[in-house]
Amino acid sequence: MARYTGADCKRCRREKVKLFLKGSKCDGPKCPMESRPYPPGQHGRGRGKESEYLLQKREKQKCARIYGVLERQFHGYYEEASRRAGKTGENLLVLLETRLDNVVFRAGFAKSRDMARQLVRHGHFLVNGKKVNIPSYRVSPMDIIDVLPGSMDLTPFIVASAELGERAIPAWMEVVGSRLRIIIHALPTRSIIDTQVQEQLIVELYSK
Ligand code: SF4
Repeated sequence: MARYTGADCKRCRREKVKLFLKGSKCDGPKCPMESRPYPPGQHGRGRGKESEYLLQKREKQKCARIYGVLERQFHGYYEEASRRAGKTGENLLVLLETRLDNVVFRAGFAKSRDMARQLVRHGHFLVNGKKVNIPSYRVSPMDIIDVLPGSMDLTPFIVASAELGERAIPAWMEVVGSRLRIIIHALPTRSIIDTQVQEQLIVELYSK
């Protein structure tokens, strides 16, 4: 499957916002956004005012990068969001939030979405008792996600288990720390999705 292989921190600097792609480094002084919060490249600091189109495009890019989704798949999410009842921008974020890799990240089982994606791909999770290794798998209310019993002793899960409680868990899910289980109680609503994007700009971009 195609994926972005460039430097993660450059993506943050390009979007001029922390995208939290590198786990604990993102919260420390080594985060390049602390020392160089401007786009990379020779003209990074000198860029002037951006057009409306560029702002919309950047917002779409930022959102796709936060969730680690490539262009074509992101557009697919948008198309599906626009077919659903309700606000397209909010629908889009709900679709992205309910990806299995994002759920694993939000639950605190991985330090970044990239790491969560890798853990899912390597087949460490059961959804309602069945092995699922597709990061884009979409969870639904009442789903139960478990770490495979044979994977509990792997370092990422030992670390996750010890650090559970350090990260705020979104209200739409519950984490049973003792058995590394995630229970999905409901679909998230925009008010509890803390992703810093202006989804309306993305809708404006795609509606042209
Ligand atoms: Fe972005 Fe994290 Fe790199 Fe900072 S350390 S620039 S937040 S990926």
